[in-house]
Amino acid sequence: MRLKMFKIIKEYPHRFSIRTFFSSQICCDSSKIRNIGIMAHIDAGKTTTTERMLFYSGFISRVGEVHTGDTVMDYMDQERDRGITITSAAITLPWHNHQINLIDTPGHVDFTMEVERYKNLLKDGGILILDGSAGVQAQTLTVWRQANRNNISRIAYINKLDKPGGDVTRTLNSIKKRLNVKPLLTQMPLGRGKDLLGIIDLVDMTGFIWNKNSDQGKIFTKMDSNELKNTMFNSWKEALQLREQLIEESCDFDNQLAEEVIMAERYDLVDALNLRQGLRRIALNPSSGALVTCLGSSYKNIGVQPLMNAVIQYLPSPLDVSYPFLRFYGSNFCGLVFKIVHHPQKGVLSFVRVYSGTLSSNSAIFNINKQQTEKFSKLMIAFADDFRDVNEISAGNIAVVSGLKLSRTGDTIVSSQSVAKAAIKAASVDNDKSPVNDDDEADDEINEAILTTPFIPEPVFFCSIEPPSIAAQKQFDIALECLSREDPSLRIRQDPETGQCVLGGMGELHLEIIADRIRTEWKVDVELGKLQVAYREIPCSESKLSEKFERRISDKIHSLQLSLMIHPVKGKGPSEVHWTTDHEAVLNFQKIKPPLKKAIEKGILSGLETGPLLGYPVMDAIILINDAQIGRGTSIPMISGGATFITKSLLRNTDVRLAEPMMDLEIICEDDVVETVQQDVTRRRGEIDYSTARQTSEGEGISLLKGSAPLAELRGYSSHLRIISSGKANLSMEVSHYQLMSEHDQTAAIEEVTGFAQ
Ligand code: GDP
Repeated sequence: MRLKMFKIIKEYPHRFSIRTFFSSQICCDSSKIRNIGIMAHIDAGKTTTTERMLFYSGFISRVGEVHTGDTVMDYMDQERDRGITITSAAITLPWHNHQINLIDTPGHVDFTMEVERYKNLLKDGGILILDGSAGVQAQTLTVWRQANRNNISRIAYINKLDKPGGDVTRTLNSIKKRLNVKPLLTQMPLGRGKDLLGIIDLVDMTGFIWNKNSDQGKIFTKMDSNELKNTMFNSWKEALQLREQLIEESCDFDNQLAEEVIMAERYDLVDALNLRQGLRRIALNPSSGALVTCLGSSYKNIGVQPLMNAVIQYLPSPLDVSYPFLRFYGSNFCGLVFKIVHHPQKGVLSFVRVYSGTLSSNSAIFNINKQQTEKFSKLMIAFADDFRDVNEISAGNIAVVSGLKLSRTGDTIVSSQSVAKAAIKAASVDNDKSPVNDDDEADDEINEAILTTPFIPEPVFFCSIEPPSIAAQKQFDIALECLSREDPSLRIRQDPETGQCVLGGMGELHLEIIADRIRTEWKVDVELGKLQVAYREIPCSESKLSEKFERRISDKIHSLQLSLMIHPVKGKGPSEVHWTTDHEAVLNFQKIKPPLKKAIEKGILSGLETGPLLGYPVMDAIILINDAQIGRGTSIPMISGGATFITKSLLRNTDVRLAEPMMDLEIICEDDVVETVQQDVTRRRGEIDYSTARQTSEGEGISLLKGSAPLAELRGYSSHLRIISSGKANLSMEVSHYQLMSEHDQTAAIEEVTGFAQ
């Protein structure tokens, strides 16, 4: 949990019930844990529903509302200002002798990586919240596809049924048509629109009725089937019919239930427990083709407690999900560091999902990614920002450890080096690989045994960032160090020419939030420079250069003479340095000691890091060293520096062009805005190459557009798209490749970056 929680506690102390924190039990029985995420179209009611869940579980003592900006899940200032959920947070809440770990994931397009980074590693199940007055919307389909890709078991919750336009039947139809699954309605609303007063659970025919004036929905009346029959005969009868329909439809997806129904001979004799278990089996299978569905109105406090019951009843415990990598670890401890936060009192806290074995407070851990053992000081469980020391945390749970210095977000940690070695060996045997000699191959083996691949996309946007004064520099450096450990997608470098600190990130909002956090959490009033696209510089012709670098320092002369050649290689990616294989040159190279050769290579690569046009990395090139002469007594730093100097001269004499990042776009939008969206993409130098027609598997009334556009034209695009489509289009994008720019576009880009016309 983030530190902002403290702020909320300070601002709204009356909402926190410390008593409930301490009366909550940590679950050691994995079957009683539910690690879940909530998926929804923006504004469907994710935050409102979460707040109620926290309130009813006793976690907070008053419900916060989205429009007043005091909800717990949207706890970061930036989120509250912008009204969106950005960074993953996790909240543990007790419910009916179970523990629900609510893992919140961001929905903003800048943060696609954070959403996708752990795939289904953290969440075992999910609730899909739908706006009952709008049905399946564009973003619903995006999160649905993500959940499909990650094989996440889920249930649906039709919210906002208090609204005049709230309509269960229409929403069920849109689930059928747009998500291509059969909704299995497990509840019936009692009343409609503003007269909605409760729900009937169709499985056991229990009624839940809320008194509007009651304690924010905490108190409700529960009625069994007989009471319902005696007090609301018509609703009871309607519910019986819907129950029959639910049984009939569920039997199509579960043979065991079908057999039990045959044995029962009559629908009304079907045992509630059997039906519940049948529905659980269906929900646990993400590709069953059916979707267990609940309903309510979170804002009016109706249906949230039964939804929490449904989480326990239908969603998987960690024991129900198989993680193939666990076979490498057996009963030994293995976990994933999925979040690092900087706590003002406790220092750096690492959040760890425990997958196997037990993490004990008196042990050290071995970090597989870093190949090092680390000690930690405390083992804790987090209830928001309230941390409780514990002696051990078992599989399926979320642990918080303090004192880890090396571990970063995304690292796999295990109980000891020998466990790691055994796992790496088992992984390589599994993958039919023989023992390795080479460092690169050893890395490959490690990758087989860790829980997530350490792939982190290159940043697409840069901007300079500065503290207001030299006095604030130290605090500024601490903030950057903490943020880079927390967020591996944040890059920090020093501009060699201006000496300014430059941030690289996944999008505009990403960098703005980093700056906001430095201001609010570390109290350094930083200034952000202009947002720059991460261009690349590409040589378009071969060229050669022979040059001598010479420097006198004190009385000593340092010199390096290099003959270099640059070869453009289309699609190569990062540039490389090679030594010529020419016989005579090879004889000369043999006389150069390996550390000096390495210094030359390092210097050349460093020269390639900043191209001659705008100082962006030079890619798609091989630099061939045809000759190298090092003056007697020349120091290693001077050799590197000289090689950099000569490489830069070579680049200045080469035809180098700018290449810009191209983004693959996937836009899911309602049919009536397809044309508007297509025209807008074209105006941005982009192209739409593929679009699904109506009534495809993507769902009736919604189209999928795929295409590409230059990143430079996509600044602020997700908000713009939301406006021009009235919220009916949802965008996902990722970097696809770098494309050479036309002369005209290149001139415009250079002018924009430097402020000067060429
Ligand atoms: P999120 O973007 O999915 O987190 O949605 P929020 O929880 O922020 O809700 C968006 C808006 O819908 C807010 O103004 C809520 O007050 C409102 N809202 C949420 N649930 C309901 C509901 O059940 N009924 C009505 N009428 N409004 C709701």
